[in-house]
Amino acid sequence: MTQEDVLKLFEETSALLNGHFELRSGLHSNQFFQCALVLQYPRIAGQLCEALVEKMKDELKELEVDTVIAPAMGGITIGHDVARALGVRFIFVEKEDNKLVLRRFKIKPGERFVIAEDVVTRGGRVQETVDIVKENGGEVAAIGILVNRSGGKATFDAPLVSLLDIEPITYDPSDCPLCREGLELVHPGSK
Ligand SMILES: [Zn+2]
Repeated sequence: MTQEDVLKLFEETSALLNGHFELRSGLHSNQFFQCALVLQYPRIAGQLCEALVEKMKDELKELEVDTVIAPAMGGITIGHDVARALGVRFIFVEKEDNKLVLRRFKIKPGERFVIAEDVVTRGGRVQETVDIVKENGGEVAAIGILVNRSGGKATFDAPLVSLLDIEPITYDPSDCPLCREGLELVHPGSK
């Protein structure tokens, strides 16, 4: 699957909209992105995760992995499909008192993990998951994400593979070229 094929799936499902948007931050942007809208179609989500796993195998050559782990909620469907594509088990960490914890599953010493996530902007949730794996004696073989919004700024202590890299272009409302063009400003549904 090429970057264009992937982009097309995001656009067809309205997960990626092009236009003139006011973001929650108050900034204006030419794009609005909501990953959940592509994930509402399990077959498409499955194809994307298979493509991500193929890319990980290509880029990493040796991908020895026992288990996939993902941060809830956003990462759960991705982690599940990535684990299916790899043929390994899947576990997740979840929010408790505003931080991620491992509640339901056990990690064995030396167990090798792929961390899966849908979208990374700053990478805080992925880093928390890396820390939990290490604190429990596991190892992080790789991090696989569907969409990297960090512009290369999110880096971790393990190789990172993303299916799509799209960094939003944002403008201050007082200096927005789209406003100057007179394009109608859209307030997309908040998350
Ligand atoms: Zn504007």
